[in-house]
Amino acid sequence: MFDDFTNISKQYYNPIDQPILKELQFSVKNHEYKIKFGEDNKVIKKQKHEAIVKTIDQGQISRNAYRNLAAIEDELPREWAISSQRIQINKEMEHEVKIRTVKMPLCDNTINLTDNPDITDPEIVDEIINSIGKGGQRSIKDILKYIVPDLIKKHILNLQQPIINLRISGDGRNVGRKVKHVMVTFAILDDINNIHNPNHHHTIVLYPGSEDYKSLDITMISFRDELRELTEKGLIIDKINWSFNLYFSSDWKFLAICLGFNAANSLYFCPWCTISKKQVANINQEWLISKQMNQLNQNCNAYNGHNLPPLFDMIPLDHWIPDELHIMLRITDRLWNLVLHEIKETGYFNDIAREIIVKEMNKIKVRFQFWQEKESQTWNHTSLMGEDKLKVLQFFDLGKILSPSRAKIIRKLWDEFYNLYMMMCNSNTNPKEFKENAKNWLELFLTPSTGTPNNNNFIQGLYRPNDLTPYIHVLIYHIHELMEKHKKWGLKSFSCAAVEKKNHQQISEFFRKTLKDGGVNQKSAIIQILEFENRKLYYTTHEISQTHSKIEKLRINII
Ligand SMILES: [Zn+2]
Repeated sequence: MFDDFTNISKQYYNPIDQPILKELQFSVKNHEYKIKFGEDNKVIKKQKHEAIVKTIDQGQISRNAYRNLAAIEDELPREWAISSQRIQINKEMEHEVKIRTVKMPLCDNTINLTDNPDITDPEIVDEIINSIGKGGQRSIKDILKYIVPDLIKKHILNLQQPIINLRISGDGRNVGRKVKHVMVTFAILDDINNIHNPNHHHTIVLYPGSEDYKSLDITMISFRDELRELTEKGLIIDKINWSFNLYFSSDWKFLAICLGFNAANSLYFCPWCTISKKQVANINQEWLISKQMNQLNQNCNAYNGHNLPPLFDMIPLDHWIPDELHIMLRITDRLWNLVLHEIKETGYFNDIAREIIVKEMNKIKVRFQFWQEKESQTWNHTSLMGEDKLKVLQFFDLGKILSPSRAKIIRKLWDEFYNLYMMMCNSNTNPKEFKENAKNWLELFLTPSTGTPNNNNFIQGLYRPNDLTPYIHVLIYHIHELMEKHKKWGLKSFSCAAVEKKNHQQISEFFRKTLKDGGVNQKSAIIQILEFENRKLYYTTHEISQTHSKIEKLRINII
């Protein structure tokens, strides 16, 4: 009988498995028994405090705000109790996943970013500029040891096939016009359902400063040593030796820096093949991924345009995958600017044309405006975000600003580019079909004029080889090959949107004075971010219920 009760008690009063039971009544041979469980039980209290810490983390509630809430509502634990629970989790996690600081080289503050700032809040910009000089890092091996058992439990990794596919990514956000917030992350590709969730991209390196080779080289020394070890020896976790396949994915700029390669506007512009700008006009030539990482490892100048040793020398070049979103964004920019250029050339870029464009943008629900730069007198316009670019690409009525025949052919070019982008994002796309469509699109882009100008037989073509960009080259010649090679994952799995989102969120959340922890020993925001990430790991491996069960009494009759 006692055993039975123990089982019941376990079932309904296991502090790990909610619901929490406050009272248990049972009868044995007509004798009534009632057991009350004390609410101040240490375990329940810990559970409750952990749930509050987790809720505070998820909602980014500041210590002051919580203190005020606790002052209003007596039932809420005091702020100091919650803080001490947070410190407890941090300490526990510090044993598992260590956080280290890295001293950064002096940042060149004279640089002015050419791109528009991603973050403009002056309070955040000030905080980031003040925190330049120190970076933070965690060990990928520590994190893997912590998360792999959970991934096995969830059947994402398989003990019978101990192989893990890792995706390394990086991102630099522009904070104001002088500084970047740079983040290097890794994610488990095998956990494909979570690959677009920022919480499943784990930060390894983090610093405010420059997005350049020198800074990344210094901050990633131990990360690269670990990656080399993972690829050469693997990693033993609970007596199983896991081996690793590595992939790298980022926007063009970050990718080129990590490859020790030129900027995209150089003569030799392609990270994957040896094409030069002088060869882009020859559209009949095939360009396949021809560069080899081991060649670059022997001599970093092995190919034109490569100047420095690749930072991820352990990742084969056909595992370096460009971000599909940036390909769409940059090519759409090009298509849009070519249209604006055409209107300017014909001399119709006046107030009326600008008004028509703004009206059409409003019609398709895109916020857009033109303004004239004071010094240069040139006209500038709103730079569009991803979603808005897709709307323009699909719905902008070119007939409003171009002649019907021009509008028709350019609309065809835009529609077919949109279709290519959709194909690129779809993991079921046949790479051969994509290659064919991409080639046809290039031919359309380069449609030559026919007939004699100013004559009735003259039909104006589209664009010249000089109008092609490195992104277009990659879309036409390399995407189908990468698509074929990485069919298992689909190119969309290498999208960097989740990492960008993560970087943006963390800057906005941690570099605001009002949200920071008070106190004399104020920690740097970088360390706070990494502690926050450690706590997120803790939450994934500990079941913390954030809802209270309504079951408080249970009556059991044992006959
Ligand atoms: Zn190429």
